[in-house]
Amino acid sequence: MNFDLMTDAFDRDHLWHPYTSTTDPLPTYKVKEAHGCRITLADGTELIEGMSSWWCALHGYNNPVLNQAAKDQIDKMSHVMFGGLTHDPAIELGKLLLELVPKDLTHIFYADSGSVAIEVAMKMAVQYHYASGTPERTDFVTIRSGYHGDTWNAMSVCDPVTGMHSIFGASLPVRYFVPQPQSRFDGEWHQSDIEPLRNLIEKKGDTIAALILEPVVQGAGGMWFYNPEYLRQAVALCRERGILVIFDEIATGFGRTGKLFALEHAGVVPDIMCIGKALTGGYMTLSAVLATDDVADTISDNYPNAFMHGPTFMGNPLACAVARASVQLLLDSGWHDKVCNIERQLREELAPARNLSQVADVRMLGAIGVIETKEPVDMKVMQKRFVEEGVWVRPFGKLVYIMPQFIIGHEELSFLTSALVRVVAEM
Ligand SMILES: *Cc1c(COP(=O)(O)O)cnc(C)c1O
Repeated sequence: MNFDLMTDAFDRDHLWHPYTSTTDPLPTYKVKEAHGCRITLADGTELIEGMSSWWCALHGYNNPVLNQAAKDQIDKMSHVMFGGLTHDPAIELGKLLLELVPKDLTHIFYADSGSVAIEVAMKMAVQYHYASGTPERTDFVTIRSGYHGDTWNAMSVCDPVTGMHSIFGASLPVRYFVPQPQSRFDGEWHQSDIEPLRNLIEKKGDTIAALILEPVVQGAGGMWFYNPEYLRQAVALCRERGILVIFDEIATGFGRTGKLFALEHAGVVPDIMCIGKALTGGYMTLSAVLATDDVADTISDNYPNAFMHGPTFMGNPLACAVARASVQLLLDSGWHDKVCNIERQLREELAPARNLSQVADVRMLGAIGVIETKEPVDMKVMQKRFVEEGVWVRPFGKLVYIMPQFIIGHEELSFLTSALVRVVAEM
């Protein structure tokens, strides 16, 4: 197979890909179809998929249950506006979600994508304080190395370095950043980790609308797993000062970390929570923002007596129907055992990478396995090597990681982990 010939000329000349140059793009591999954990390229090459298409696919591509849910719904209606109308897919999905999240989260705002959910959550926090008579609270605090999406406000709370704040400069709202907690998920808790947040809140607390962070697992900002004690103390500090707490569970939700939601590792409840990615099992884009009675009622009981947001495709019936089927399938699938088995296998099979001189750290949690290298990887070389090995893995920076779909078989996962260790060893 000649991989250089696989790049489609139209695609290369006209289609923009994520974080990619138009003048000197890396090759893109054309996919013909995908089934289960396998992606079939245009020339028939099969790749075992290690990325869950960026955290979102759980049940395998072309899952018959999800296909059926989409077909059933599309024959009724694909979409109707949510302003003044409602429908069973939105209602049934909502009922199911409220059974799964902490009971204090009672109101659901459907949105289009993860980034939009973050925009919505941040607007909710600002409008909540406006409604509460504290309109001076418009700032946000977050921890370094976070990732919350690519839209304007989402980007403003991404890590300033990896989030490329230097490029967008003064056009971005300025936020408060405190250091990323260093205490490891499964290691000892160091009380010094919380001090920067405590100090900032002491000084600036009265201007801060909300703390926003990814609970326990920081995804695209660094694939870091931190100690849940941070969340318990951070939430307590915020509550004392009237600062709302927003949890971004867009990557961590739906079982990925070994709990249905990562907040369960800490036993704390935010005021606002964002979910997305795996919500539809990887079929289409949909996100949701969940809020407490306090947030929803305060906004609604004060001028202008409504939350000021309403996307065109809000509550899209097709997406809601597939999401409902996906969440139900997850609950019925014995997901917890599956994720525990994946974690055990990742621990065994990625451990040898610790002995490689190229490797700085190896960590696993739930269905996430990370090899952190000492030097940044050469994406161009590595991407090609992975495809030659028959796997789909897309590293970035110093992070070579996999987060397989929950349905992956034991042998498929071994194939993936051995390719991962082999390719890193060649660096
Ligand atoms: C991917 C991601 C987002 C953004 O979601 P999009 O659907 O890509 O807009 C936000 N937060 C986290 C934690 C994510 O992983």
